[in-house]
Amino acid sequence: MEWNVIGHEWAARLLQQHIANGEARHAYLFTGPAGIGRRTLALRFAQALNCTQPPAPGLPCGACRACQQIERQQHTDLAVVQAERVGGDLKIDAVRELQRSLSLAPYESRYRIALLPRFHEANANAQNALLKTLEEAPGHVILLLTADSAEDLLPTITSRCEVMRLRPQPLVTVAGALQAHWGAPPDEARMLAHFSAGCLGTAVLKGKRTDREALRENLHDAYRTWLSFWRDVMLRSAGAQAALVNIDVEERVQAAAVQTGLETARRQAAALEKGLARLNSANLQLLTETLLLDWPRVG
Ligand SMILES: [Zn+2]
Repeated sequence: MEWNVIGHEWAARLLQQHIANGEARHAYLFTGPAGIGRRTLALRFAQALNCTQPPAPGLPCGACRACQQIERQQHTDLAVVQAERVGGDLKIDAVRELQRSLSLAPYESRYRIALLPRFHEANANAQNALLKTLEEAPGHVILLLTADSAEDLLPTITSRCEVMRLRPQPLVTVAGALQAHWGAPPDEARMLAHFSAGCLGTAVLKGKRTDREALRENLHDAYRTWLSFWRDVMLRSAGAQAALVNIDVEERVQAAAVQTGLETARRQAAALEKGLARLNSANLQLLTETLLLDWPRVG
């Protein structure tokens, strides 16, 4: 399997070297927009750290029990601590409980690993509590944080982490990878790539299955997500004060509302509704072509 993190090969190489040279740090922070692959990279690193049959120093095999359990986030020496929902609040109690478990020796692996996705959702108390762990972590502990950006965290946290800044990939790279690794036909690949550059890269990259049906499901998710996005744009264009569904991308909604206006947003939502209804029966290629041709320009 190796790392299989499309576009972030530089980061994978660096992490691999850290392990191979016995220079793994106590804490890493993976930053970048949601859906870019920061959690995937962190999990690969966790696999590489605890793999029982590495094909080369610092490489995860992907097949041993440890690699498979870490992939499912169900490994005894992997603790995953995050807010209950996206956009939620990670509280100090969760961090304290984590600290207690980290003080114990690993059950069966070399390292006890804590994964803290979306750590920008930790409130100040929780961040301060983690600081203590960052300063005094036992040698068998490695902390893996992810966040939208390093600037969202307390500087005292960031300065104690090795920061890996992940950047969005060009559309053509994403489309190429979808064709090569997921067997997506060119037009679907282009469409999914287009979506991934928006606010839901997750829909594309979470698809580990290679069959066409998985792609269709991803497309389904993508349509639904974009539909809720454009409905929010309609709300804002109309000046309604109702709460947005996509509160996590409120600025994006606002920008689209200003740039496109109510009529365009309404037309776009209607096109997506129609597309969603026809997704199971229609010619996907034709459907996506039409949708992309009319996609409102939002800069
Ligand atoms: Zn392995």
